[in-house]
Amino acid sequence: MEQEDKEEFLRFANVKKTYDQKALVVKDFSLDVKQGEFVTLLGPSGSGKTTVLMMLAGFENVTSGSITVAGKPITNTAPYKRNIGMVFQNYALFPHLTVAQNLAYPLTVRKMPKSQIKEKVAQYLKLIELSQFGDRHPGQLSGGQRQRVALARALIFEPTLVLMDEPLGALDKKLREQMQFEITRLHQKLGFTVIYVTHDQVEALTMSSRIAVFNEGVVQQYAPPDDLYERPANAFVANFIGENNLISAQLSKGAGTDTIDASLDCGTPLQARNGNCSTSDTQCIISVRPEKLVIKTDNQPYDNQIAAKFITRHYVGDFIRYYFQLSDGSNITVKTLNDTKAPDFTEGQETVLAWMTNDCFAFSTHSSRDQGE
Ligand code: ADP
Ligand code: MG
Repeated sequence: MEQEDKEEFLRFANVKKTYDQKALVVKDFSLDVKQGEFVTLLGPSGSGKTTVLMMLAGFENVTSGSITVAGKPITNTAPYKRNIGMVFQNYALFPHLTVAQNLAYPLTVRKMPKSQIKEKVAQYLKLIELSQFGDRHPGQLSGGQRQRVALARALIFEPTLVLMDEPLGALDKKLREQMQFEITRLHQKLGFTVIYVTHDQVEALTMSSRIAVFNEGVVQQYAPPDDLYERPANAFVANFIGENNLISAQLSKGAGTDTIDASLDCGTPLQARNGNCSTSDTQCIISVRPEKLVIKTDNQPYDNQIAAKFITRHYVGDFIRYYFQLSDGSNITVKTLNDTKAPDFTEGQETVLAWMTNDCFAFSTHSSRDQGE
């Protein structure tokens, strides 16, 4: 809600990039970011995320298209004049300088008076809770501490825009979660705008105000985390964000409307919400999340149901994952909470799986955006 009042701050308009004058690694990238937003580019490795950041920072040219910050084109501005803070996976701290000297560096090159630098460094050491570590060298710090220094060094000159490229990739899971808190805390406290890059969807869902799901140089969907999860725009996003059962089906009717009728390849009829099928589609992909499927043990009514053979179940602690097979041989996964109602079956046992139409989408088989309109 709050975002809607804020002005658009950063805009990519139809940005294209080729390194070899042949293949476009960024095909047609358009994105609007509001002041103070935390926007994540999420996509598989090689999808062009780093290239987008490099063009924004000024280390790579754009092949065509424009990038504007606060309404002004920046594509002809030298990198050091863009006043952008950057954090990378490999810290990039100066090993021969102390922590305090590393933090002072961006201020020294900006010719800030010495007394002010001292004050600022003390302030930012406190902010990252490393006040006692100012005299150490980076080699004397843990990975997490080094990354906090790198973060402080990217923020100390108070850039309005901060780019982070997989900054937590080198840290183990616990530390990564701590740093996710740390970064979002600083973002909320200081109010800068973040463009964050990760291939880790949980990280993206946890931290972002909006996520641009990126594949093969094209944004597949740009939306807040809950929208991406609850209302994926196409089969790629449905599969990439969270877990989904994707089952191939024939469309029977309704491809131009909100609810469609389809039949799975095994013959079972069902209803689904129309993800992005059009009247020209005859085939579709049905997607339903494992936690939305119910293993029927009573007569409670559901919109859709299907016979399935139990294969096995895996105990995962807080939940249990069940594997089933449909009559056409396709596999289907169900997740249930690990509570007293979690049923058990013998291998090969016939069961019935059920779900509500509202929890199930039909996507076009050629739905992933690859032209970038
Ligand atoms: P991501 O960050 O999503 O993993 P990148 O932007 O690094 O993706 O890479 C996108 C594509 O561009 C890849 O195919 C990669 O090999 C290619 N690429 C990246 N940087 C260069 C470069 N400096 N020269 C040539 N090709 C590059
Ligand atoms: Mg990258």
